[in-house]
Order: sequence, then structure tokens, then C-alpha cells
Amino acid sequence: MLRWERCARRFLVPAAFAAVLGIGALAQEPQSKGVGKSTAEATSDEEFSRLVRQWTTRPDFISPLVDHLPKVAGVPSPKDVLGHYIGEPKKLTYYADILRYYRALSAASPRVKVLPIGKSNEGRELVVVFVGSDESIRNLEQYRVSLGQLADPRKIADAEAKEIVAKAKPIYHLMGGLHSGEVGPSEMLMELAYRLATESSELINQIRENVIVSITPVADPDGRDRNVDWYYKYGINETEGHPVGAGVPYWGKYVFHDDNRDINYSQVEMRSLLDWYLQWHPPIMHDLHQAQTLLYTFSGQAPQNPTLDPILYGELPAMANFEMSQMTKYGMPGVWTHGFVDMWSPGYLAFMSSNHNGMIRMYEIQGFSGANTQHMRPGQGGGRGGRGAGAGAGEGADLAALAAAGRGNQSQREWYRPLPATGEFDWSLRNNTNYGETGVLTALQYTSTFPKIILENFYRKSRNSVDAARKDAVAGYVIPAGLRDMTRVATLINLLRVQGIEVGRATAEIKLKDGTFPAGSFIVKRDQPYGRLAKILLEKQTYPDPNLRTYDDSAWTMGMMSHADVKEIGDKAVLDVPCEPVDQIRLAGTVTGGGTVFAVAHYGSNNMITLRYRLKDMRVQAVEEEFKNGDKTFPAGSFIVSGDGARVRAAVEALGLTAAALSSAPSVAMHDLDLPRLAVYSTWSSTQDVGWVRYAFDKFEVPYALIYKERVRQGNLKTAFDVILIPHQAGSGKRLVFDIENRGQPLAYKKNDQFKNLGAYGESDDITGGMGLQGVAAIEKFVKDGGLLVTLGAASYFPADFGLTPHVDATRVSTQFYAPGPIIDAEILHPESPIFYGYDKKTVPVRYGSGPLLSVQSGGDPFGGDNSPHVPDTVLMRYPGGDDHVLSGLMKGAAEVRNRAAIIDVPSGRGRIILFAGNPCYRWQNFGEFNMLFNTVLNYNDIKTVPEAKTTTAGDAR
Ligand SMILES: [Zn+2]
Repeated sequence: MLRWERCARRFLVPAAFAAVLGIGALAQEPQSKGVGKSTAEATSDEEFSRLVRQWTTRPDFISPLVDHLPKVAGVPSPKDVLGHYIGEPKKLTYYADILRYYRALSAASPRVKVLPIGKSNEGRELVVVFVGSDESIRNLEQYRVSLGQLADPRKIADAEAKEIVAKAKPIYHLMGGLHSGEVGPSEMLMELAYRLATESSELINQIRENVIVSITPVADPDGRDRNVDWYYKYGINETEGHPVGAGVPYWGKYVFHDDNRDINYSQVEMRSLLDWYLQWHPPIMHDLHQAQTLLYTFSGQAPQNPTLDPILYGELPAMANFEMSQMTKYGMPGVWTHGFVDMWSPGYLAFMSSNHNGMIRMYEIQGFSGANTQHMRPGQGGGRGGRGAGAGAGEGADLAALAAAGRGNQSQREWYRPLPATGEFDWSLRNNTNYGETGVLTALQYTSTFPKIILENFYRKSRNSVDAARKDAVAGYVIPAGLRDMTRVATLINLLRVQGIEVGRATAEIKLKDGTFPAGSFIVKRDQPYGRLAKILLEKQTYPDPNLRTYDDSAWTMGMMSHADVKEIGDKAVLDVPCEPVDQIRLAGTVTGGGTVFAVAHYGSNNMITLRYRLKDMRVQAVEEEFKNGDKTFPAGSFIVSGDGARVRAAVEALGLTAAALSSAPSVAMHDLDLPRLAVYSTWSSTQDVGWVRYAFDKFEVPYALIYKERVRQGNLKTAFDVILIPHQAGSGKRLVFDIENRGQPLAYKKNDQFKNLGAYGESDDITGGMGLQGVAAIEKFVKDGGLLVTLGAASYFPADFGLTPHVDATRVSTQFYAPGPIIDAEILHPESPIFYGYDKKTVPVRYGSGPLLSVQSGGDPFGGDNSPHVPDTVLMRYPGGDDHVLSGLMKGAAEVRNRAAIIDVPSGRGRIILFAGNPCYRWQNFGEFNMLFNTVLNYNDIKTVPEAKTTTAGDAR
């Protein structure tokens, strides 16, 4: 095997060697303007070289770029601050120490600057660290402005852009620690920053002069600290894999890997980064993960989103191939590209760059969730990723998909993997550092060699985005004013605005070939820098090839997800419609009339449940039939409130709702909206899917108790709760019940003086074992005693499989079926059910989750298949199924869901069980479905859709 002599004694790459490496030509004109004062005094850190060689488990697992480190008087290396070199076995760094290091480096070097950008959910400071030449850092603001000018070509001509490119520098943004179990890159980035600030090899000089490097040290710092705690508590003793049986139950407050699928930037850490991005416009964002053997560099394989600029699809493989060829030249095996993640969904965090005319980049580097050296055999299913217990969709799921596609063997040679890693070997944290840092330095070598091309492309993609409006079939979008519920429209528009998309409000009626729309309608014109992104988010997703697999969702169409009316406009005249710019919309609700009884119309706003909780001490009833007042219709489900008028008015107005103050209550049937004692059940292994529901409840101000197996096993559930909600989680009934396998020792998740980050969001002396049959019996008793059990998505296997709903069967789709999150039709069969209050259409778009195929045995006649003659009354909603009912994205084998139940209501004892086949609270996305869950909660003791149970009463007693 090709081997390189390591320049362990020198920190400079010698010129001859540099020429061999292909960087000699770049080094003719280093243009060094302001070498740091202390760099001249640099010597090589011999101890670093010795220890790194020792920690590197095979001589070909390192490159000449990282086998040395300068020692510079006055500038602290990571070891000077942390007490150890990066990559030392069994050493991981807590976030506060990581920040401490960057601050010390910044204080000592004019080449480093730390910029605070916000706070995490748990209050940790979020920062971006800049590294560049003295001159770059001194003039950072000027470089920021230049990139901002290139990002909006409407304000400059091509000639001016050329001048800006000549004086600008690209910012290359690196992100570590988005996934807390993927620990290596956040360690490596500290050494990288130090090296970039201090080394004076020709390569580093060139990078420092031509590129500004910016760094997110840890994208999810709350999760980082929890994972490091867990590692020191349990992982440090492991010899292979996770013998302890599980990762830490939580990373961030709400989610695990889904922080990389937070398409609407709900999580504060992701949102802070986006806000920073829109100020700084780095043309490249590079996210550093670890899951693959030994380093996978993303090249944007098919399926590709065709709305993104075609230039991007040339840039991506160009950089990836450069890295693969350079690292292969250094003799490092296992560097590959293609064959893993595709370019379909725009929801990954680093996509904020591609979506805004820059470039997403991504690595998966071999690593573990801790810092132990472990033995591995890469032929057997790839490397063990840094997945925590919460791995659901994403890396974990996709490894299975890869294996199914025959590409899971990463020791196999492929056209995109010319030098695979074969055999068995030990893998260390330092190996991970060596691969990650060599890769990143090679990416920076490319960028610093072609900085002007990177900038030109950024400008050209931005200009093309504006120009596409007059060339493409779609010129823009109109969201008509005057819909009965504008709150979901406001949510949609505000989310577009968060992403920097310009939205206007028509100052007069709009007449277009596509239709006539009233004054006040919202317009998204495509002739703006982020016009492409608007189209990507608003258009129907037409999947190019059903035989291609995708890494995440195949659909996300925002209008369908929000049940908001979004019109695609082909008429170019839309670009000239006068409108006022919209910032964030704050809808003011309206209260007409002067009476003392308030009727609040239920038009489907998710804010209805917030209103109920804001008025929690007042009597609120729901009407069971529609009534009219003047020209307004108040549909079934509308609230009737009497009491403190000022408070009601203030709440209605703040929440953007529609109300009338009547002189007396309407004479229609109604029931009290009692507030339930609501519990949300979570396994210890699937807290993320529960986390999204928690997030929605928190945002809409719905209080709940988060309970685990510990509480369920205690029994007496009905004395404490009225409703137990089991969100989509665990994948099967068996896993929901038995959860994490016990492997001989209890696994406590508890806070103590040593591990302050554990025990957040719940505590347990032992997270293994699940609720068990004891828990099943307790939940069954809860229902028989009069409780309401609600199961979402995969949790709906549980009541069917464990006999709580004896007439409901939950089965799985065939192996040919493939439906990564498409949007499909659902047909409401019992619109009178309170679950559908606020829905005015019989057929509504829903996201298809990966829940069970539900069927109901009725009169010995199994319902659920095609042409089933009899639909039991317990089925409240069903999927019509078939290709005609796939609205966006891919459902391969759509006939399998034909007429399958989507919501089933099963009375049981004095209580009932409501099973959702899908997930009405998926991430922060399907806002149009949220109300099915919210209505269920609010009307928990008034759901009586089964005829024999149906009674009409005006008000009821608990
Ligand atoms: Zn990851």
C-alpha cells in the first residue's frame, strides 16, 4: 500500500513534499499580509507528534496534514487549555470547556474571533468562531457585506459583481456536534482552529489568506453535555458497541437526530444558526457527522431536487472527488463518495446553504458515541454510528435501507469507493480526528485554490434564482386573503419569512390568468434571491423515480401540510403586482357585537386549544351543531364562553381568532370542554418522537404530565389522568411494551453532582425493561375505568397487538411497499365527531406515517381491504388509497392502503381507545392535522361517534 513518510519532526510541509501533494503550485504567492506576531517563533510540538502516532491505530490512518502541530509562544493549543491533546483515548470535552478553549484562542490570536449568536434551550451560549488571516478577521464586517451583496443580485449588475468577487473571500462554515453521539468532529474542530491560526505551511497560509473559516463548535450543546456525561458514566467502560444496552435517553430538550430534519427551524439552536446564516451568507456549509466507514463525503446523488440550481450538482461531486482523490493519495483507505445520502429533501440543517444558493456539504466519519478505541470489522454492516437510544428515522433506518440495497458492505470496492477499508482493525478517536481534519483541510485546499470560482458560482446561482421567475413555468404563488382561518396561513408565511423569503401583500384586487384574488392576498414572487426555495417549499413534490430510495421525507408541500390554500401562478404578470412587504404576521382576532356571551368560531385554527387553556378557569362549551349569527357561521365545535369579557376579548384578539359577543347563548346542543388531566407516555428509547408532540403542546400552551414506565407500572392511572396519549414511537407493540433490553445491570438516568446533565425531562433508576405486562394491565384498567387512551402512528400497534382492542388488527405493509412520508388523501367518514371540529372538507391531505395498516373485524366480516362492503362505525377516517390519492411525494404500492382505517374509535369498558394510523403531530410540519389531536384532547369525555353511545345533552357532568 502506498505510504507517505510522516513529517513528524517538522510542522511545515516541505516544498518538495507539497509539490508531490499537489499543493506546490498553490504556494507560489502566499500573499501573507499579517502573520501573527508569535508565529515566527513557532516550533514543532514533538510530544503531539509522538502521542498522535501512538493513538493512531494504523500507520495509514493519518495524513501528512495532521501528524504535526506547531507550538507557538503566547497562543494556547487545545492541550494548553484542556490539559490533553485532541484525540486522546477516553477523553471527551464538555461544551463549557470547548467554549473556554475558543475564547482563550481568540484572546491570544488576531486570527480568531468568537461571535455569540443565541442561547440553547437549556441556556448554553451558541457561538460562531471565525478563523482567518489577521486582515480577514480585522475586516470581517467588510467581507460580510460583500457576501450579502453577492447574495442579492437584484441590487448589482454583473460588472459590479465582478468587482465584488475580486475583493471578497468565501466563508466556509463547518459544523460539529449536531448529533450529540457523533462526538469526534467537535473535538477535531478545536485543533483545526488552532492549526489554521498558527501553522505557516504553504497550504495553511493559502487557506488563511483566501478563505474565512467559520465554525459551529457544537450545534446541539445541551445534547453534547448529556452525551458526554453518559459516556463518562457508562460508555468509558465499554469494550465494544453499547454493552450497557442503550444510549442516553435525551440529547437536546426535544429531539435527537431530527435536529437535522427540522425543515421549519423550530428548535432554537437551529433557528439561531439560520438567523446568523442570513446575516453572513457563507457560500458553503459543511456538516460533520459520523456514521460511515471510514469517511463518506456527500456528493449529492439521485434523487436530486430539480428546482435547485444545476451548477450545484457540478460543484458537489467536484469537491467530493477532490477529497477522495487527495486522501487516497495520502494512503488513507475507506474514503468514498456517492452511494449514501441523496439530494431530495431540503430539510437537513446544512441545506440552509443550498436552499439559499450556496452549497451543502456533509461527511460521515467513522466513530463511536464515546472516546474508546474499539475493534471493528467494516464488512459487517458499516461502522457503528454514534447513535443514541433515540435513533429512529435517519442514520439508523437508512443503514438498514442501504443493507437492503446491497450497498451496506463498506469494505467492498465500488466505482465510488476505489480504496475501501478492509479486514479488521481497531478504531480510535484520534483516527476520527485524523480523517475529519484531513478531509476538512482538503476541502479548504480546494476552496482556497478556487475562491473566486466559489464566489462567482454563489453569485450566479443567486442571479439564476431571480431570473428563473421569467423563464420557468411557475412565476410565483398566491395565498388568497379571506380564508376562514388565517392563523395557519400566518404560520406558513411566517415560516417562509424565517427563511428570508420575501412575501408581499397585494394592495388591490389581483387579476391573473390563474384567477382573481382579493386585496390583501399574500404573494410570493419568484424573482427574488430565494425564489427557488419558495418554489421548493410550496410546490407539489414529483418524485422522479419510484425505484430510488431517499434518506428522509419525499414530500413537505407546505400548503398541504398546513391545510392552507396556496395557488401556483404561471402568469408572469404576478411579478408586477403592487404589494407591501410583509414582515412577521401578527394576526389580530376580531370580536363583533356587544353582548356578554362569546361565541368563538372553530375554523380549524390550532390556537383554539390555546384559547381554552388561557381561559382555563372559565366555563367553555362547544356547540355540537353549527349556528349563524348575522353573516357569520359558527360551525360545530365553536366555543361558547361567558365570563370576564375583557379577558375573552384579549385572548381572542391575541390568538387571531374570530368571535362574536352575543346577548345569549345559541339554542343548540353543546357540551362542556372540560380540561383533561393529560399524560404523555414515553418509552426511554424513543424520546424524540414524543419530543415533537411535547414541543407542539408546549408551543400551544397545553399542559401535560410526561410519564414513563415507572409511573405506568404503579397503576391507579385513572385517579391521576383522564387521557393518556402514546405518541408515535418504538416501531412495534412489543418494543413499546418491553423497550430497552436489560443486559445484566440497571441503567440509571439520574442527575447527581458528577453528572449534572442527566435526569433531565424525567428520571429513572433503571431505564431498561419497559412497562412490561404489568404496565399493559395498568393501561387496560385505566381504559376500563373510564380513561381515554390515544395512540399515534406506530404506537397503534400496541392496543391491537396486546388485546386492548380485540376487534382491531394491526398489520404491516408488504416489502415492496415504499412510502417515505408522502402526503395523501384521507377521507373523513364521521364529520360529526368532535375530532373533526374545524374541518370543513370531507377529504383532507395528511402525511402518511409509518404506522400500522389497521383493520376492524365487524360482524365476522374483516374490514380494511379493497371493496369492503361494510364500514364499521368505529372507523372515523380512512385512506382512499391508490395512486390517484397520492398528493405529493412517493407512495410505491399505494393500493396497499386502499380503504384502510386512519382513525378508529373503540369504546372499551367505561372508557375508549382512539387509534391513529398516522401521526397527526409530525415534527413541526403537518399543522393541518394538529387539530385532530387537539380536538381529541379537548373533547376527551364527549367523543361519542358510535351510534349506540350517541346522546345529545346540553352540557354534561364529569
Ligand atoms: Zn449524524
